[in-house]
Amino acid sequence: MNYIVLDLEWNQCPAGKAEENSSLRFEIVEIGAVKLDETLVLTDQFREVVKPQVYHSLHHRTKEIIALRAIDFEDARNFPEVAQDFITWCGDDAVFCTWGSADLTELQQNLAYYNIPSPFPFPLLYYDIQKIFSIVYEDRKSRRSLESVIDFLDIPKSIPFHSALSDAHYTSLIMQRLTPEQIMANSSVDYYQIPKNRRQEIYLSYETYTKFVSRPFKDKTQAMRDRTVISTPCCKCNKTAQKKIRWFPVGGSNYFCLAYCEKHGYLKGKIRLRHQRDNLCYAIKTVKTISLEEAYEIREKKEVLKLKRRLRRKFNTDRNP
Ligand SMILES: [Zn+2]
Repeated sequence: MNYIVLDLEWNQCPAGKAEENSSLRFEIVEIGAVKLDETLVLTDQFREVVKPQVYHSLHHRTKEIIALRAIDFEDARNFPEVAQDFITWCGDDAVFCTWGSADLTELQQNLAYYNIPSPFPFPLLYYDIQKIFSIVYEDRKSRRSLESVIDFLDIPKSIPFHSALSDAHYTSLIMQRLTPEQIMANSSVDYYQIPKNRRQEIYLSYETYTKFVSRPFKDKTQAMRDRTVISTPCCKCNKTAQKKIRWFPVGGSNYFCLAYCEKHGYLKGKIRLRHQRDNLCYAIKTVKTISLEEAYEIREKKEVLKLKRRLRRKFNTDRNP
C-alpha cells in the first residue's frame, strides 16, 4: 500500500460565473503529488502543469493564489494525457490523502468532463489531513491553513506554498508528525459519487461516532421521512436508541436529535441534507455519544429555536394584522 498525497491547482472562468461552463466550473491546471510508503517515508513524486482547454486565461483570484504564469502552459500537455500518466503513477494500491475535502471531487469532475473512466472505488474513502490534524492536535472542528499548521509544528519552510507539488510535500511532512494508526482511524468519504440506491448506502464506524450516507431523494421532506435516515442506532452497540428529542431543524439543511442508549447513555444525532449535481438530495447522518451537559445543550437549543419561531410569528401578525 502507498499513500498518495495529492494537491491540485485549478482555474475558474475569468469572466465570472455568468459565462462559466456549467459542466466544468473548476479546470485543473496543475497536478502535484508525493508517494509515501506504509511507514510514511517519501518514495516518489509527481508534478505536471496541465494546458487549459476550457478557460484560456487565469481568473484574477487564481493568479493571486498560484505560482503559474502563461508561459508555464506553453509546452504543457492536455488534461487527458496528464491524468492517465498520473493514474498509472498512483498504482493499484493507492490510499489518497489531501489537505481539505475538495481535491478528489474536482479530480473526478475533470475526469468525467473528458469521459475518462474513474479509477476510484465506490465508496471513495480518503484521508483529509487538515481534518485529521484537528482531530489529533486540536478540537476536531477547527480547520487551519496548511501554512499555519507548518508553523504550529515548527516545520522549516524551505519552499514556497501554493504550488501543487510543494503543498503536497508540506502535507506529507504533517502526516509524518502523525502515526499511520491516527491517519487510518479517521477516513473521510468523498461525496462526488453518492449511493445510487438503498443497497449502496454507506455505513461507517469510528471511535466516537458512526456515519451514514443515504441514497438520493426527491426533496428534503422525502429524505426526512425515510426510516433509515431518521433512525438512531447507538454508535457503540448499534441497538436502536430511544429518542428523547425528535429531529428538529437547525438552520437551513441541518437537523439534530437526542437519543438515549441504556448501555451507552446520551447520543446526539445530526443530519446534513445536501444537494447532488442533478438537484436530488441526500442525507449524511452522524450519531455520537455525548455527556449529560451536551444533552442539556441540545434541549436548550431546541427551546430557543421554538421561542424564536413563536416570536417571529407574533411579530408578523402584529405587523400585518
Ligand atoms: Zn449502545
